[in-house]
Amino acid sequence: MRITQFGEFELIDLIRKNLRVSPKVICGIGDDTAVLPYTKDRYLLFTTDMMAQGVHFTARMKSEAVGYKALACNISDIAAMGGVPTFAVVSIGLPKSTKVSSVEGIYRGMQDLAKDFGVSIVGGDTIKSDKVVINVALLGEVEKNYLVTRNGAKPGDRIFVSGPLGGSLKDGRHLMFVPRVAQARFLVRNFKPSAMMDISDGLAGDLNHILKASKVGAKLDEKSIPRYKGSTLSQALTDGEDFELLFTLSEAKAGKLLNWQEKTKQWFFYPIGLITANCKELILPKGFTHF
Ligand code: ADP
Ligand code: MG
Repeated sequence: MRITQFGEFELIDLIRKNLRVSPKVICGIGDDTAVLPYTKDRYLLFTTDMMAQGVHFTARMKSEAVGYKALACNISDIAAMGGVPTFAVVSIGLPKSTKVSSVEGIYRGMQDLAKDFGVSIVGGDTIKSDKVVINVALLGEVEKNYLVTRNGAKPGDRIFVSGPLGGSLKDGRHLMFVPRVAQARFLVRNFKPSAMMDISDGLAGDLNHILKASKVGAKLDEKSIPRYKGSTLSQALTDGEDFELLFTLSEAKAGKLLNWQEKTKQWFFYPIGLITANCKELILPKGFTHF
């Protein structure tokens, strides 16, 4: 059978079934990052993301932006666990005709972001390949009591997103988004979400990962889903590459968060629906016509 008949997540499931994992692993395949033993009061977070020319970026895009995004999507996954990023290794595959200035550009883009988030790039690998490929593997850490995974959502919890969704690929936002580390740290310190992830594949698909992991369902409220300027509801639900946080909070904590943001106006988190007890059932808004 070819992988196209299989689907990405079925393939990952197949890979997972055939791997043997040490009992020391706190969380392996299936969340935004792996969670590993570290110190008495902290976990180590470990994640990787790969980007390929022709799939995730084109030769026409600025090298700086490509480098920036390669690191940014990894930082976003560390944020999704409630942690802070620390050290990265970067591997690149380059066609023989690649300009040295393009490689410098990729690293300039990455270094700009690394500096802002306190990340050190400490190694990597360089190979020849037909197309440009970039792989970043990133470590992070999180206080044990601040760790948030995808599997803690409970019936009655409110569902939130950290910003407007849709149109990110069309308007180029996917190349310059700011990973939501500050927002995630604020949330884990003050409200401790019951589940959290970042939106990379689109709200409708990604919310399903929380539902599956938490064995719950959800009902989204059409009017409350924040759409980025000019985006339709379907785009907000399926475009992806928004890299906003998607999280759930108990009703009591949700009320406190809404009060806090009303008073401070520091950040705005959008309540978009409710977690239900109907296992894995996602009720999408009526206006949704994509499938
Ligand atoms: P994200 O969008 O948060 O980066 P992905 O959708 O890429 O997450 O991956 C989902 C989960 O599957 C993650 O836990 C990731 O580590 C794991 N995963 C993806 N590809 C592989 C692979 N080839 N081998 C092992 N684990 C994988
Ligand atoms: Mg993720």
